[in-house]
Amino acid sequence: MAIFIPEDKVLEIKNAADIVDVISEVVHLKKSGKNFLGLCPFHSEKTPSFSVSPEKQIFYCFGCGVGGNIFSFLMKHDGLAFPEAARTLARRYGVDIPKKSLTFEQNKRITERESLLNINRQAMDYFCRALLSKSAGIPAMKYLKKRGFSPEIIDKFHLGYAPKGWDNLLNFISKKGAPLALVEKSGLILPKKDKRGYYDRFRDRIIFPILDVNQAVIGFGGRVLDDSLPKYLNSPETPVYNKSRSLYGLYTAKDKCRTTNTIFIVEGYLDLLSLHQHGIENSVATLGTALTPEHVRLLTRYAPRLVLVYDSDEAGIRSALRCVDIFWKEHVDFRRGDVFQEEKADTHILVLPDEHDPDSFLMENSPEIFFEEASQAPGIITFLIEQAIGKHGLETEGKIRVIADLRGPLATINDNVARSLYIKQLAERIGIDENIVLEKVREHRSVKSIKDSDARNDIVNKGSRLEKQIIAMMLQFPAILPAIKLYNAIEYIENDILKSIGKTVLEKQLSSDEQISELLTSIEDPVQENLIATLAMIEEPWDERGCLKLIKQFVTTGKRKRDSKILEQIKAAEKKNDQETLDKLLREKLKLAVQSEKQKLA
Ligand SMILES: [Zn+2]
Repeated sequence: MAIFIPEDKVLEIKNAADIVDVISEVVHLKKSGKNFLGLCPFHSEKTPSFSVSPEKQIFYCFGCGVGGNIFSFLMKHDGLAFPEAARTLARRYGVDIPKKSLTFEQNKRITERESLLNINRQAMDYFCRALLSKSAGIPAMKYLKKRGFSPEIIDKFHLGYAPKGWDNLLNFISKKGAPLALVEKSGLILPKKDKRGYYDRFRDRIIFPILDVNQAVIGFGGRVLDDSLPKYLNSPETPVYNKSRSLYGLYTAKDKCRTTNTIFIVEGYLDLLSLHQHGIENSVATLGTALTPEHVRLLTRYAPRLVLVYDSDEAGIRSALRCVDIFWKEHVDFRRGDVFQEEKADTHILVLPDEHDPDSFLMENSPEIFFEEASQAPGIITFLIEQAIGKHGLETEGKIRVIADLRGPLATINDNVARSLYIKQLAERIGIDENIVLEKVREHRSVKSIKDSDARNDIVNKGSRLEKQIIAMMLQFPAILPAIKLYNAIEYIENDILKSIGKTVLEKQLSSDEQISELLTSIEDPVQENLIATLAMIEEPWDERGCLKLIKQFVTTGKRKRDSKILEQIKAAEKKNDQETLDKLLREKLKLAVQSEKQKLA
């Protein structure tokens, strides 16, 4: 069943729930002017900078920059997905959410996303039935049994089989009445070369449906039964499937992850299934991609300790180096207001002995031995240090190489305390003066930080002060929206994020404070969400005259900038004698002139 909460229900929940009420259960809030203040639950602080507005029904932390509405609070604080957060509130405030499967007819009226999930669900059911069928599914079932998977595991992971032939699923799904153009978007069928009709993507393969934490079917993996290639085939990225954000098996692992505080991460479907088969249920798999920052953020909602499991030193090193990078990047995200506490992710690298993969290891060893190995798995930097020593030895030459290998990763660590502790650890381990290691890392860091700080500033300074003021005004003083439209002010915003927020605000036609919270419900990007919350929260005493003045000033500056840019381009085109570009630019210039005349008349 598709988990779908109709928009009117979301509204009903929103109207019934109170953000101060919900947040004060976990944060001690004190009234301060129109708002409430407390210690931020998302970063550690001693003086309160976490603010909640009962009027706007939003929260914002002036310390770490995280913000949102009542749904996003629960999502961020309790690690819930939107439907889970909505259901929690619905239960609490007695809003009844109907449970029913949707027909394709109803689906037409709701979003494409829901329709795609519905198509995937039907396909999954079809593949499951095919695996159980007495004729077609027999070889596939035999294969799974040979690999040691019990009926319980097959059932729990909804394993299936895509039969031989070009149009089995196609015919099934056509009969269900789904528009084929939409089915194509799901990646389950592909258009024929001559564009006349479609064919099945998955043929004669074992099917691993990929479910998200809410058990929505977001994509599929397929494996051949023999040695033919490609061995694995996956759904393409679709509106509902994003590899860098999805983890195979997380929906069945999440409870166990919470109770054990540990998550094992492997690389393949079958590795994951064999961990579960051996009772190691707090495990997930990445889907043909390396671990991403999104994965880490998702996983740390469920457990603080991550153990990455690999079958070779090389794979382990590659992954460890990537992790160093991820955690550094996370730091930037944190600064731009996306909550992530790097100390929360305690990440370890486990390389199984004798080039074993999890499947072969568990064939020969008990789960207890696996846990024993895992409990001794070193952290990322310790792993890299030991690997380097293993490779280069501890003779003088070796020590020099060990430092050379490690100075990059060590320089990447942004947290001063952590960095100096690891430097100390390395110095002690190889028996060398700490200051020498420190010196080497510093050299590396100064080169690196120049490059990095440029990139970072870009992210932190989102748009000019004036651009931010325009958006803040739109959020706090909706009466001004018609003027914004009239002067085309959004067009002159150069920062992409602010521009897109501006467009959304115009589209939604905000007219009151409460609608800010509603607006946030429709925003999926956390950076945008936090930015909206801060711009809505920092209040200024707006009046119509002041606002108009600000808009005119902004538009005039914007026009001047744009005009001089076009003039520059015209000059450049003249210089190059590029008639075609020149014509285009002159037409553009004329169009803009007419446009601004029109505005003057209005
Ligand atoms: Zn905070």
